[in-house]
Amino acid sequence: MRKEFLPFSRPSVSEEDISAVADVLRSGWITTGPQNAAFEQQFSKYTGGSHAVALVSATAAMHLLLKALGIGPGDEVITPAMTWVSTINMIHMTGATPVFADIDRDTLMVTDKTVDACVSKKTRMIIPVHFAGAALDLDPLRALAEKHNFILVEDAAHAAGTKYKGEKIGARGTALFSFHPIKNITTGEGGMFVSDDKDLSDTIRKLKFHGLGVDAFDRTTHGRSPQAEVLMPGFKYNMPDILAALGISQLKRLDAFNQKRKELAKLYRTLLTEVDEIIPLKVPDHDMSHCWHLFIVRLNTDKSCCSRDVFMDELKKRNIGTGLHFRAAHLQKYYRETMGFKPGMLPHTEWNSDRIFSLPLFPDMMPEDVEDVVKAIKDILVR
Ligand SMILES: *Cc1c(COP(=O)(O)O)cnc(C)c1O
Repeated sequence: MRKEFLPFSRPSVSEEDISAVADVLRSGWITTGPQNAAFEQQFSKYTGGSHAVALVSATAAMHLLLKALGIGPGDEVITPAMTWVSTINMIHMTGATPVFADIDRDTLMVTDKTVDACVSKKTRMIIPVHFAGAALDLDPLRALAEKHNFILVEDAAHAAGTKYKGEKIGARGTALFSFHPIKNITTGEGGMFVSDDKDLSDTIRKLKFHGLGVDAFDRTTHGRSPQAEVLMPGFKYNMPDILAALGISQLKRLDAFNQKRKELAKLYRTLLTEVDEIIPLKVPDHDMSHCWHLFIVRLNTDKSCCSRDVFMDELKKRNIGTGLHFRAAHLQKYYRETMGFKPGMLPHTEWNSDRIFSLPLFPDMMPEDVEDVVKAIKDILVR
């Protein structure tokens, strides 16, 4: 058995990252300023998107976006329940109603058909998720959004570096990225709004900082204009330079990180072909390139010794950490109790919710670590 615990994720932080942050701390300007502006510019260049606004989280980006579009009571927003709860929380907080589209059983992503089944006259927006690093099949979703005249917002928290038909996620439309420590690059906490819609981006920029219409820092005035006034009431979601400097430093290594993830994922896929009880996700057939944010598998509970939760515990006893992305949102306590959701509503989502778990995958892992994980899985199944 492994001697050291292998976490399911660990950020890769270099001495260069640490110096970049230390430089900001010594500079005399630590909140939103020149590093923030440079990070926005470099991230939009990386994705090919036209406008980028750095924020304290992807959840903040979601909140601002719903506000910017005036979504609220009487509106419906379509999203999978196989997503992080922040999306549902933000929709609910604005007073709008989340409507859940089921997912493809083997990619964990919504399709134009599952979304179409949820469309009503009240639909204002759809928020599908590029899951685990794979790309959604965007063309049919874009066509559906155009046909019904609602906005398509891509949850790209898992998709930094992912491509769809040769184009990076973020290159077109509106996408939200996260830099939480488990994501492919991190700023500690952070997020990025990326869009080709200039007016929408301008509104997000205003809303992120009190509605003042200026950043905390203005190059020309070496500070912020003290005369700036409220143009619309806003929030306080700006990304400070301490975090942006880490983002700039991490972004330089994103492609190398993703290459490493890809190699580890390939090894998992090869070794796991020998294990019938473990079913990896399917890599979608459409033209895309994967950034391998997570390595998610399903435990075939009909064939195996125990439930998924017990299996995760057994792995932990063998010093292997796992994650759970995600427990179906509609069946969580608050949403079950306030909206009356019941098991059976979303068969593919619920089937996966009971069986999925995420195996360790991060750039500093070694092939031997992958071998340890597969050995531990086999050891549990033999007993
Ligand atoms: C991480 C994550 C988010 C939220 O990102 P934060 O930056 O933590 O707010 C949203 N959606 C998905 C699918 C995520 O994995």
